[in-house]
Amino acid sequence: MSIVRRSLARLLPAVAIVMCAETQAFAQNAPTTYRVTFPEPEHHWMQVEATYTGLGLVPLKARMSRSSPGRYAVHEFSKNVFWAEAFNGRGQKLSYTRPDPYEWDVTGHDGTVRLVYKVFGDLVDGTYLAIDTTHAHLNIPAAFMWAAGFDDKAIKVIFTPPAGSNWKVGTQLYPTSDPFTFTAPNLQYFIDSPTELSNFVMSTFTVPNADGQPATFRIVAHADGSQADVDALAKLVERLVREQEAVCGEFPHYEPGYYTFLLDYMPWDDGDGMEHRNSTCITSAGPSLKTPQGRLSAMSTISHEFFHNWNVERIRPAGLEPFNLRGANITCCLWLAEGFTQYYGPLLQARAGEPSRGLPFPSPNPVINGSGREVRSAVQMSEYAAFADAAQSVDPTDQNRTFISYYTYGAAIALGLDLSLREISGNKLSLDDYMRLLWKTYGKPGGLAPGLVGKPYTLRDLRDRLGELSGNRKFADEFFDKYVEGREVADYARLLQQAGYVLRQRSPQAGWFGAVNVQVLPDGALTVVGTPTPFATPAYDAGIDLGDAIVTVDDQPATSSIWNALRQRKPGDVVKLTIRRRDGAIVNKTMTLKSDPALEVVAIEQAGGTLSDAQKAFRESWLGTKVK
Ligand SMILES: [Zn+2]
Repeated sequence: MSIVRRSLARLLPAVAIVMCAETQAFAQNAPTTYRVTFPEPEHHWMQVEATYTGLGLVPLKARMSRSSPGRYAVHEFSKNVFWAEAFNGRGQKLSYTRPDPYEWDVTGHDGTVRLVYKVFGDLVDGTYLAIDTTHAHLNIPAAFMWAAGFDDKAIKVIFTPPAGSNWKVGTQLYPTSDPFTFTAPNLQYFIDSPTELSNFVMSTFTVPNADGQPATFRIVAHADGSQADVDALAKLVERLVREQEAVCGEFPHYEPGYYTFLLDYMPWDDGDGMEHRNSTCITSAGPSLKTPQGRLSAMSTISHEFFHNWNVERIRPAGLEPFNLRGANITCCLWLAEGFTQYYGPLLQARAGEPSRGLPFPSPNPVINGSGREVRSAVQMSEYAAFADAAQSVDPTDQNRTFISYYTYGAAIALGLDLSLREISGNKLSLDDYMRLLWKTYGKPGGLAPGLVGKPYTLRDLRDRLGELSGNRKFADEFFDKYVEGREVADYARLLQQAGYVLRQRSPQAGWFGAVNVQVLPDGALTVVGTPTPFATPAYDAGIDLGDAIVTVDDQPATSSIWNALRQRKPGDVVKLTIRRRDGAIVNKTMTLKSDPALEVVAIEQAGGTLSDAQKAFRESWLGTKVK
């Protein structure tokens, strides 16, 4: 508790300055206040009584967000608001208008508007709102209307849990002397502060930070587990955060005085992990905290999300700062913000000594062989996020052949860059040094207020910093031109060989024509269904795609077993096909099978070779612990 008080004391002067400036503008300016109640949690809705003050003569424009920090598609949270009434400061009822589907406009007030509304939610994940008799799981954009034009105004939230519920509050919002009242210094901080109300179990630990001050961490678990179980998980998390600290060299300053892991593991949860500035919200139906295996299985999402407290929350790409709540956000650099985080997640688990079943780094195969690389670079994949990240539409998409997740793509770039930096420097420089430079340059300086990042980076900045770190502008330019902004891939076989790993074709003898899903039609022909035919495959070159029917294969009537048996044929074999188009037109085509290009990474010891001393040392310096 003492560390909490010390941290808050450090913050108070900055908050006070912001409040003073506003007090001059509006004499009776109080924070926007939300009173939250749960009259019928079994019906999955809550009531919010929002009081907006200091409005002066301008209309209140109360908006529901259309997006949520850490998510890149629009989510239309407004649809779940089902009842709203407005009052002035004297309690007289006011009318409102709806200029668009996301806004409630109130005029004719006395400088204060009290807006009371109800909102439904029943999806436990990192994006939405979920209310039931066990908890209220709040992602703030899904629940709270904010006043447009008042982004810098402080916010106060007062929760009243259902009677007899034993609910407590877990959140990165600033605590007060009342356990159910919290504050946020501004809208960006508020919107980024997921909140869990339940009878959760909490475990707390501290780790010394580089500045000598202890950093405090809280595990808040709404799960089937005892205090001892959550404490056992906390031990794993403590070991991991020490390993994570070693990458950038220090923990950030956590403004409320602590970083909070909000873990929700109930059987009806969706699987999700969402990063925030001083917390993460992780949900899953999976892990049981009662067993060592269950606790270990929780660690991969924890590792990924915690690395975000540097990478994306503070080392932040320009397109996400400040986060636009009115629509989708676009950025150049999710390949770094998400992809590098994806790379570090398992790598840091391995450095922390957690047992793993697979390799502690990603295979570059999905990127090397990804059809999407024919048309989009890693930057362009990032720019496509609004349509790929839990986006919904009714028409089919071609994402299977035009898109590679920026997680996968970026993780492969991270692998290539880590091994390249080690290669050109005789293992003196690594991706850790690059992340540390980005942290010192863009993350650590902070912003004007908690929740704001003062120096978001651009794509150009990333290239420049790599030139600076490596002392080799040509290397940096080539790396970005080819692998980040271009569509080439690094020479992973050579790079991995340094650490004694072999990149090889998994089944070079297998005939391959690409991923084409077929379904049997009533007349026996095979129709292509599901997703469009990937680029640069024998099937694409043969002109087969969605809606076509394959009538014969090598002059035999096509059957699923004949089609599937093509995979047993040899590379170079030519297959004769009769294809019927949607309009009934018949065309004859040939398809030349290729060698299956799928790649695997194997340790040289498993590939029948011997690990040299140099490879062993390289592997240890890459994958071994950095905690002294
Ligand atoms: Zn992530």
